[in-house]
Amino acid sequence: MKKKTAKRPAAKTAAGKKPTTKKSAGKKPADEKPAGKKPATKKSATTQRAAATPAPRAVRPTSSRAVTVPKPGTVPATAGPSPYDIPYAGAPLGAHVSTAGGVRNAPPRGVDIGATAIQLFTKQANQWAERLFDAAEVQGFRDALTPTGVAFTNAHDSYLINLASPNPELRARSIASFECEMQRSTALGLDAVVSHPGNFMDDRASGIARNADAIAEVMERVSGPTRLLMELTAGQGTVIGSTFEEMAALLARLPAAVQSRVGVCLDTAHVFAAGYDLVHDFDGVIARFADVIGLARLGLLHLNDSKAPLGSHKDRHELIGAGAIGDGPFRRIMTDPRLAGIPKVLETPKGDDMVSNDRAMLRKLRTFAQG
Ligand SMILES: [Zn+2]
Ligand SMILES: [Zn+2]
Repeated sequence: MKKKTAKRPAAKTAAGKKPTTKKSAGKKPADEKPAGKKPATKKSATTQRAAATPAPRAVRPTSSRAVTVPKPGTVPATAGPSPYDIPYAGAPLGAHVSTAGGVRNAPPRGVDIGATAIQLFTKQANQWAERLFDAAEVQGFRDALTPTGVAFTNAHDSYLINLASPNPELRARSIASFECEMQRSTALGLDAVVSHPGNFMDDRASGIARNADAIAEVMERVSGPTRLLMELTAGQGTVIGSTFEEMAALLARLPAAVQSRVGVCLDTAHVFAAGYDLVHDFDGVIARFADVIGLARLGLLHLNDSKAPLGSHKDRHELIGAGAIGDGPFRRIMTDPRLAGIPKVLETPKGDDMVSNDRAMLRKLRTFAQG
């Protein structure tokens, strides 16, 4: 974790400080995120995060908001052709899908958009309420998944969770919530759970330690094949994990037995906003990731363009090609042998019918993959 291939702001280490410090460009907080559910990344972690987070976003209701999620199999006639029509032999490729009406609805919704990978929420992501699935729900999900071509499944955990919190009560609550998430996802047989590093609030090094220790505690209690993928962040406020070095430091603190079950999710919008210039130094960024974290740890790519500029530290997802990143880097991602085996999931705006945008995005990416 020293080499410096990528054109990137001064490396920040575990205890360092933010690389670029370009303050918010005054982007409008609000929209983005998948399925109309995925609330704004840092959402209203009200209590603990609001204080340290600049612009709190409007609270977005989770699965049920203004947009009505269509029943699986009811694809609008205007949705455009399915991505499945475009030959694609690459790693699982898909998007975040809604679980409205029950978790068993997620796989067929993946089929509706032409996905071979799906991400979902196993609960309302912006609420603390927890519950485990009963046997029928688990079986329903598995039965719904089997006949599909969806080959990779992952959950995204709650935005309220802050395993790095210095507040014992909030951290305990976060640990309990995170543990339930791992249990639900393990029961469903998901390949992975994606989790954001928390907000350190007081000092960075302590926050990293608290975060890692909480992960270790839960992963030691919940066994099973479901991996944990820690997602690189945009670096807003006091959030941990916006530099490769800091993510590496977080992982390094985990006990060896846990480390083997923990990897990393690279979100293109987040790393770009964090200051990694995918547009002008794509190879350098990937090489630096390989140097500092290691490609063997890369378990998932979140493919999102960014409304926010390079180094802005703002998490604002945009349709592929319509943001500050543009088509180029996504073309590279879809053809880069280093990334060929990595599942790829979109978290781009859904639009009103929840299907058309994802179909268009997945068709575009499949076309990119053809070179
Ligand atoms: Zn995320
Ligand atoms: Zn993401």
